[in-house]
Amino acid sequence: MVQVVAAKTELIEAQRPRKPLVNLSRFKLPKHYRNTLENERLQQMWKKQFGLPNHVRVVKVSVSVCPVCSRQIPMVVYEEDGAIWLKKTCPEHGTFRDLYWGDAELYYYFLQWDAPEYIGKGTANPNTDLNYYVTTSGCPFACGLCPVHKTNTVLAIIDVTNRCNMKCPVCFANAYAAGYVYEPTLEQIEYMLRTLRLRSLGRQMPFNLVAVNQH
Ligand code: SF4
Ligand SMILES: [Zn+2]
Repeated sequence: MVQVVAAKTELIEAQRPRKPLVNLSRFKLPKHYRNTLENERLQQMWKKQFGLPNHVRVVKVSVSVCPVCSRQIPMVVYEEDGAIWLKKTCPEHGTFRDLYWGDAELYYYFLQWDAPEYIGKGTANPNTDLNYYVTTSGCPFACGLCPVHKTNTVLAIIDVTNRCNMKCPVCFANAYAAGYVYEPTLEQIEYMLRTLRLRSLGRQMPFNLVAVNQH
């Protein structure tokens, strides 16, 4: 019975009318994206490798982490039904599929600036070194920031408490999931601020102190 229902669901899914793929001719996408998006052989190879249907468009393949065990696993980013999705499979914990961008047009618009000249060069003051990175099996276990991390902090946010009813469904800090009171001491907050100042290398860095509290 369960199999029949699953087969029926699959059939309905396969016959469902779909939004057409975005017309890419309006965007000046970096060459490395064009090479993937317009290469039919690569498209077919990756769809097969990641178990994707033929009507989707693969944007890129990369490496992500399993949300359960944090090990690095291959990931594919693809367009389907006017949105951008990512899919990854952990050999132990199964397949995960998440909405990446709700609007594919907007995603391609911003992708125009995902070129080497705009990509961050990493932080000048990492907290861990390459040796630590290698011995801890790399990202995300070497977090610190580590020297491999590309981006710098643009807007720093420091949570100073989650003493609220913790049930707001739009809580960006996901306070409810913590299940405990998070409240750094004044000394810890001072340490965070000093670390941020080290990172900023003389630039002024905007930051928010956030009390997660009925926002
Ligand atoms: S700091 Fe290093 S380990 Fe942490 S997320 Fe960035 S690259 Fe990964
Ligand atoms: Zn896993």
